[in-house]
Amino acid sequence: MPRRFFNSLLFLWNAFLDIIFPWQCCFCKKETKQYPLCENCRKNISINSSFICPACQNRIYDFSKYCCSKNNSIVALGISSFYDNPILKKAIHSFKYQSIASLEKPLSGLMIKFLEEAKFISTLKNTNIDKANIIIIPIPLHPKKQKQRGFNQSELLAQNISAHFALNLESQVLFRVKNNPSQAKILSFSERKVNVEGIFQIALDKADLLKNKWIILVDDVYTSGATMQEAATILKSYGAKKIIGLVLAKG
Ligand SMILES: [Zn+2]
Ligand SMILES: [Zn+2]
Repeated sequence: MPRRFFNSLLFLWNAFLDIIFPWQCCFCKKETKQYPLCENCRKNISINSSFICPACQNRIYDFSKYCCSKNNSIVALGISSFYDNPILKKAIHSFKYQSIASLEKPLSGLMIKFLEEAKFISTLKNTNIDKANIIIIPIPLHPKKQKQRGFNQSELLAQNISAHFALNLESQVLFRVKNNPSQAKILSFSERKVNVEGIFQIALDKADLLKNKWIILVDDVYTSGATMQEAATILKSYGAKKIIGLVLAKG
């Protein structure tokens, strides 16, 4: 059976099981009512409380200025939680590699909780940023990888965040044109930088949307930051004003 077909079947099968049977927590294996991550396990995932500068890790309370000269692509980075938490690690792994799409709710819930803890909405107001000038953009997968997985995990997370805060979502403007190897498999930063060079393109018919907009770039795991920087650079070259990064965890 071709792998792509098998994965689509797996995705459908999981969706079917979701309807018929109660959940089992992906970490502790206890039966659970709502999602495949039980409430008790969710409570044991701690949440960060502030945005940081991706270059020096200083806390960021104002999105209007870059913190330091080393930082010129992403004005603030929100890392919702900690990848060394075994529950979160297992949940992200099950979400991505076992195609358990319904983990989108509890996982995006952690990002929403982070945005609330970090006082995201009031920081936008203090920085005089109108909601209408914000676009949430998920880091795209290469179409081949997306077909294999059945979904783009970052897009599912971004959809939930957009719905919760009533912010615009645009998942058709940034595209991945190179199916590069996973950053997690490459160790040095310089190799990671080369690995992501030219992997993104902008849909030209939608490029005007980006002009003077604040972009919230959403990804699941932040590794060296090279992927997010590459996306931020191309978005800025098409007129985006400033980029805020938002991820579940730093790997
Ligand atoms: Zn559990
Ligand atoms: Zn800094």
